[in-house]
Amino acid sequence: MRRFCLIALAALLLLAAGCQWLPGDVAAPPPTEPAATTAAPTTTPPRSFNGIAEGDVFPGELTFYCECAKCNGKWAGITADGTLLAELGPGDLPVAGCNWLPLQSLVEVGGTVYRIADRGGPGLDRVGRLDIFTPDGHEAALALGRVYDVEVRILALGSAAKY
Ligand SMILES: [Zn+2]
Repeated sequence: MRRFCLIALAALLLLAAGCQWLPGDVAAPPPTEPAATTAAPTTTPPRSFNGIAEGDVFPGELTFYCECAKCNGKWAGITADGTLLAELGPGDLPVAGCNWLPLQSLVEVGGTVYRIADRGGPGLDRVGRLDIFTPDGHEAALALGRVYDVEVRILALGSAAKY
């Protein structure tokens, strides 16, 4: 009888020890404390898109285009976001195109704020490359040529959903 009791006791101990290794028996972590309201940040971090954050500045390169078919192909007169170029007035932000920012982003170059409203060929994929719309016609756009060594500052990122 004594031997049986020892064996039974040992079996019970083994069972108990085994139970402690069952995943379900892992002690639950202590309940997490509610977020401290006193430590809330006073500023929200800048939004970002593909690693580009509001406030970033990039070395840039500009070209210029007009609303004509030479510049836009079948999309002459209308931008990727549906802006009718002929209807842009002095009260509207100047329009630029690129492929590396969401549409409706705002960038600043040389003190002028541009709205990203258009897309273009693969040349506009590179970060910092902008195609600036000029309302003064094709010859004027060509005459402006290509401008190197500008700084492009990201003022606001457009909604990524509209990319
Ligand atoms: Zn043109």
